[in-house]
Amino acid sequence: MTDFKTFVPPTRTLMGPGPSDVSPRVLNALGRSTIGHLDPAFVSLMDETKALLQYAFQTKNTLTLPVSAPGSAGMEACFANLIEPGDKVIVCINGVFGKRMQENVIRCGGRAIAIESQWGNQTSFDELKTVLEANADVKAVAMVHAETSTGVRNDVEPLCKLAKQYGCLTIVDAVTSLAGIELNVDAWQIDAIYSGSQKCLSCIPGISPVSFSNHAVEAIKKRKHPVQSWFLDMSLIMGYWGEGKRAYHHTAPVNSIYALHESLGILREEGLENAWGRHRRLHEKLVKGLEALGLEMLVAPQARLPQLNTVCVPEGVDEARVRTELLDKFNLEVGAGLGALAGKVWRIGLMGHGCSDRNVDYCLAAFSSALR
Ligand SMILES: *Cc1c(COP(=O)(O)O)cnc(C)c1O
Repeated sequence: MTDFKTFVPPTRTLMGPGPSDVSPRVLNALGRSTIGHLDPAFVSLMDETKALLQYAFQTKNTLTLPVSAPGSAGMEACFANLIEPGDKVIVCINGVFGKRMQENVIRCGGRAIAIESQWGNQTSFDELKTVLEANADVKAVAMVHAETSTGVRNDVEPLCKLAKQYGCLTIVDAVTSLAGIELNVDAWQIDAIYSGSQKCLSCIPGISPVSFSNHAVEAIKKRKHPVQSWFLDMSLIMGYWGEGKRAYHHTAPVNSIYALHESLGILREEGLENAWGRHRRLHEKLVKGLEALGLEMLVAPQARLPQLNTVCVPEGVDEARVRTELLDKFNLEVGAGLGALAGKVWRIGLMGHGCSDRNVDYCLAAFSSALR
């Protein structure tokens, strides 16, 4: 390397599947001076961050904390701690992220019973009921709340309540749902949940808020085998993020926690219900505008995620050319289709700070130009 130059990123508008636009308040928090991760000032910041996460998740769970790694690590934390070799787990799959849950079950030595629904459709309550009836001794039921690969919202509340009637633990992926649509961890009887910092929390990527119920904590305590992952073993992490004296486990990403704390504070100031309402209102405005351009949505209205809008690519339009033009001419990032939907859809994110009238208007104007 001859010439080193400081990296200055282009100024983009992020309307893909994440990361989303980060608020300047969060970026400012990130740049404050680093302090020791066991400094009393940092320890109180950890406590406040936990309390703010309990608010965001709507839970009283003591074991609520940010895992020091992206959403995928939160996923691993849930499965690695709860699933032991031989455990039967029902996995509801209707997109990429449900598939990943199945993969996690298998890697933990569990037996995954898949309920596969067509991509773009919701997981069916009746189907889960049939599979629960047909399988005794199922330990857990896993599902994705906001399936970012398709733009579908699964009906987590009835599905989790049903699973609990059969004595199962419930595991939910809330990476894209947290702060974007209604989510009530305690009222919906969710035992283990993981999220991500870079979707509707509009924080920087790299942190995964998680929460475990008492039922889940008991299951962890009753394990026959130690958790295979040392880093993600909740019984060890509890000594660091738990109550009382903090013992060193790993060095928390100190500045990232400043950023997360600020983003959760912004959510708290707005209020959860208001944040959910803003996502709904701007989603409706975006869909109206897209339909006026002659575009069609992939998902049926009642199953749509406001924060992730999946738009069908019209006949004869080159999907990738449009995205390149949006990026080159408008500095606008939207997502491509994944897996079965590659080349067939665009995915437009309206997440957190980026879920604004300005972004909806900008996106519609850019699409209108790129499609011409
Ligand atoms: C983005 C996403 C993940 C993965 O999060 P990373 O932070 O990229 O590891 C998991 N599940 C869903 C539903 C997501 O949208």
